[in-house]
Amino acid sequence: MSSSPIIVALDFPGEAEALAFVAQLEPARCRLKVGKELFTRSGPDLVKKLVKQNFDVFLDLKFHDIPNTVARACQAGADLGVWMINVHAMGGRKMLEAAREALPVNDSNPKLIAVTVLTSMGADDLKEIGLNHSPAEQVKQLASLTSDCGLDGVVCSPQEISLLRESLDPDFELITPGIRPEWSVTGDQKRIMTPAEAMQAGSNYLVIGRPITQATQPMQALEKIEKELGL
Ligand code: C5P
Repeated sequence: MSSSPIIVALDFPGEAEALAFVAQLEPARCRLKVGKELFTRSGPDLVKKLVKQNFDVFLDLKFHDIPNTVARACQAGADLGVWMINVHAMGGRKMLEAAREALPVNDSNPKLIAVTVLTSMGADDLKEIGLNHSPAEQVKQLASLTSDCGLDGVVCSPQEISLLRESLDPDFELITPGIRPEWSVTGDQKRIMTPAEAMQAGSNYLVIGRPITQATQPMQALEKIEKELGL
């Protein structure tokens, strides 16, 4: 278990690379995110190994299916002992409520959060799939639905934090990727904030990948971020 707001994105092609990297980290000082690539290659066994090493694991599989299937997938994730699971808010109220019912709020269940609009989608992309709102309006609407269905929070870009903090319950959690410390390379991320800026804006957890995973000394990179956050 960790009290850190830092979630390291384990974007590695397979188990060997992921475990070699994780061997350099301490579970008290960060949490880990396992996404679709790593999970599809290395599966539940790797997740169980990370949980066994006392890491809090965010299983980032963004479930989106009929309510019954999503509820069962969430339960399967909980059985792995993960700390956080996510679904797509676009699955709608019935799906979100089924996921929440499968994972009632208690100390043994993972946190349940939703993805609103993928940050790769702009206004034109939304229009093409029949959604005429601006991305910001769509994010706000889906976050509000997510909160209404009793989920714990949403993944959002740092630029959306203030928009969502205006209207949502203060306990509703915001998990933000798109984080770049000033000393790191921006890469393909566009609308970025530094760790301190994102926390000040109201983020609860920071998803950080390459600034830590690609650092020659990952623990030193983590330490610099902790210092910046006053941890
Ligand atoms: O390396 P980097 O810090 O950019 O990694 C960010 C992580 O967060 C990646 O795993 C990426 O897939 C994920 N993510 C993101 N933007 C979103 C949702 C997830 O960068 N909107």
